[in-house]
Amino acid sequence: MNDHYDVLIIGGGPGGAMAGKAVAEAGLSCCIIEKRPAIGTPVRCAEGVGQEIYDFIDLDPKWVSARIQSAELVAPNGQVIELSSEMAGNEVGYVLDRKMFDRELIWRAANAGSDVYVKTRAVDAIVEDGAVKGARVEYAGEIRNISAKIVIAADGVESKFARWCGIDTTVPMNELETCVQYLMTDIDIDSSVNVFYLGNEMAPEGYVWIFPKGERTANVGIGISGKKCKDGSRPKDYLDRFVQEKFPKGKIIELIVGGVSACRPLRSTVANGLMIVGDAARVSDPLTGGGIINAMYTGKLAGEVAAECIKEGNLTAAVLKKYDTIWRESAMGKGIERNYQIKEIMIRLSDQKMDSILSSVQKMDLEVIGTKEIVRELIKYNPWLLKEMSNLKKILG
Ligand SMILES: Cc1cc2nc3c(=O)[nH]c(=O)nc-3n(C[C@H](O)[C@H](O)[C@H](O)COP(=O)(O)OP(=O)(O)OC[C@H]3O[C@@H](n4cnc5c(N)ncnc54)[C@H](O)[C@@H]3O)c2cc1C
Repeated sequence: MNDHYDVLIIGGGPGGAMAGKAVAEAGLSCCIIEKRPAIGTPVRCAEGVGQEIYDFIDLDPKWVSARIQSAELVAPNGQVIELSSEMAGNEVGYVLDRKMFDRELIWRAANAGSDVYVKTRAVDAIVEDGAVKGARVEYAGEIRNISAKIVIAADGVESKFARWCGIDTTVPMNELETCVQYLMTDIDIDSSVNVFYLGNEMAPEGYVWIFPKGERTANVGIGISGKKCKDGSRPKDYLDRFVQEKFPKGKIIELIVGGVSACRPLRSTVANGLMIVGDAARVSDPLTGGGIINAMYTGKLAGEVAAECIKEGNLTAAVLKKYDTIWRESAMGKGIERNYQIKEIMIRLSDQKMDSILSSVQKMDLEVIGTKEIVRELIKYNPWLLKEMSNLKKILG
């Protein structure tokens, strides 16, 4: 490990790997450090991605566990709404094998020329004269200082690096979805359909998901608002009740826990000498919790902008802000804001109102209309929704 790099990246998930590849491809020196002993494990993810993954990478069957053709929403009253691939958008596509997928992304960064160190943890930021200059790193039992022209914080939802640099990264408890997931086998499922169960009894301010991993095997998980967790009502309690009812004979072969932010992104994702990407920047989708593609997009963009700014010799927040502005104005940035507002409405709905909304979704011709039309149609069938929407204009565009 060198003592100095053009760019030091904290975290070897999809955000860090894409950033590392972009920096190395621009001909600059780059190092990705990952605190875990192996890239890609343990998997803390349901592994679902939409078709737009192809904007970043051609999928190889080796990293795909299942191809998803449609999605089903199950309303609190049990009615099932089928969403075709055109309508379901991000909810159809693929269920990845992230152990393989994350490794492939890191291999690509390494092949482009980036150094990669596992079991190497950032323990503090080096900040001098108001600018980030590197990180203190625990590597092979020693603490050492690694300096860098730019540090990219890609350290995921548990991110501490940006906080060490003085940025407020707090996720309010009510906007942190706490999740538990089982990898289950020997269960009766349709291996081409993602299923989502909604309702305050089922998963308060969240949902239960079944994402197939192949024949008779699936990620079965739940996310609920952190503020709804209490004794007897922890995510695992809800999930165990669900599993007992739906898959009493299924076998649990893996258990993971994790958090997903459902808040707005950080106010600023840059500072002098610092860029923040992926879950660390809180750019996962506040409605669905999906963050793989958003991490890949922001990671790649941050890497490209970092390389440009280093070549120009200006590393101030004012110049790095180009990265922040581009992603906020992108379809991803606008989608996050829209889905944040939709989520704010959804979490206030009673089960009865949710049933009413989902029942009207079933009446629509979902093959031919887009998001704005859907919102208009929903209001036609559920005029009370208007009152719930404080910022309707923004959603309708
Ligand atoms: C239960 C669950 C289900 C999910 N399901 C989906 C889904 O179906 N689809 C989807 O798109 N998204 C899903 N997500 C979200 C998705 O996993 C994340 O959005 C995505 O992994 C973000 O990528 P990232 O690179 O920003 O962060 P991560 O993938 O979290 O990578 C960050 C890395 O940084 C490392 N790190 C942290 N601190 C340090 C440090 N100090 N020093 C060195 N390394 C450090 C971590 O070990 C980690 O490997 C889910 C999340 C959870 C918890």
